[in-house]
Amino acid sequence: MRTHFTNQLNELPDGFNVTICGWVQDIRNLGNISFLILRDREGIAQVTLIKKEMGEDYYKKINGLNRESVICVNGKINKKTQSKLGLEIIPTKIDVLNEAETPLPMGIIDKVSVDIETRLNNRFIDLRKPEVFSLFRIESSISKGIRETLENEGFIEIHTPKIIATATEGGTNLFKVKYFENDAYLVQSPQLYKQIMMAAGFERVFEIAPAFRAEEHNTNRHLNEFVSIDIEMSFSTDDDAMNMLEKVIYNAIEKIKKDNVRDLKILNVEINLPERPFPRVKYDELLDYVNSKGIEMKFGEDFSSEALTLIGEKYKGFFFITRWPMEARAFYVMPCEDDPRYGRAFDLQFGEREITSGAQRNHIYSSLKENIIKKGLNPEDFKFYLDAFRYGMPPHAGWAIGLERFTMILTNSKNIREVTLFPRDRRRIIP
Ligand code: ATP
Repeated sequence: MRTHFTNQLNELPDGFNVTICGWVQDIRNLGNISFLILRDREGIAQVTLIKKEMGEDYYKKINGLNRESVICVNGKINKKTQSKLGLEIIPTKIDVLNEAETPLPMGIIDKVSVDIETRLNNRFIDLRKPEVFSLFRIESSISKGIRETLENEGFIEIHTPKIIATATEGGTNLFKVKYFENDAYLVQSPQLYKQIMMAAGFERVFEIAPAFRAEEHNTNRHLNEFVSIDIEMSFSTDDDAMNMLEKVIYNAIEKIKKDNVRDLKILNVEINLPERPFPRVKYDELLDYVNSKGIEMKFGEDFSSEALTLIGEKYKGFFFITRWPMEARAFYVMPCEDDPRYGRAFDLQFGEREITSGAQRNHIYSSLKENIIKKGLNPEDFKFYLDAFRYGMPPHAGWAIGLERFTMILTNSKNIREVTLFPRDRRRIIP
């Protein structure tokens, strides 16, 4: 239907005939002349309506359109205009494709601030706001950039099941679903399957897919359904996985800086390329640090949000927390050779926020089984997984980035719901 998006009009010569399509953002009627602002995905254009050229009735009809009605305008570009946009369209024909009802559930360009609940309830309208749309363009570039890097590095995209019979890391935080006569669960992570793919000899795999967590708490950085970007790589250590993560993060940021100039401008955020390598700080060092600052924390505990705030003040950008106590991590982490109280696990932080966790995995059947038992789990429940370790499992490592967390960080968003199209949280499952 359209010949051009609004952002392509500038390059065209004066008098050029175009058809643009979009939403009626606003109409300013001055009597004999009126200015209709048409918005499409790429920007806005002014359509100048002139009564004596359009005829009284037609002029009246178009001027009477409700805001957000959908139209296509065919007309000529006029560059000799006083419009701030540098050009206007003098219409020959305006097709009204769908008239919007009035009043709108919420405004698009009004300056009044609307609370997040109203915005999410009317998400289809909220997403029409350029500053909201830009977040998702950036999110799209992030997944595209990550995919590009991983493909260049020889990773194969896989799709593992989202309905499973056994919990990844024990029974908590699982959504139970009815699976015919039996109970099943929604996956918390593709962890076990991506590891099995190492036994399958795929060497390097990645998956970008939803993960489900029945976490009761309602925070501004947790969702009950989020997109997990997972990798697993064979013949690799925790250091190899961290190096790969650095590369992936760096390239994604580089891509956004290049491809999302307009979005960054709309959002008024500046992104700097991080310096590599990212600092790698041991868990114990941070434990001592927070203890010295008066936060009580015992060896083996995870950092509280209070502790992370403190740590985030010291380390502002990307940094790894390495060498975690085994008791703080899942059973599949490879213990350190020099001291098995520690594991080859890491988190990638951006200041106080965690965006990735990863590890070298335990590929030794007997000790893996022992760790499952130590965590109070039943190895029988993991037979399908453990069997993969019995007939030739290479050493391997991997990680998982939360796509929304990463987007949040890069766009400086305060709430993860901002960067989630239709968030699922403790209270929300619609729309
Ligand atoms: P947190 O401690 O922040 O709750 P986690 O330790 O449970 O996270 P992992 O299981 O290690 O997280 O998951 C890997 C990554 O997936 C996290 O670093 C984060 O980016 C993302 N992630 C995990 N849980 C959630 C969630 N509930 N909502 C959004 N993203 C999440």
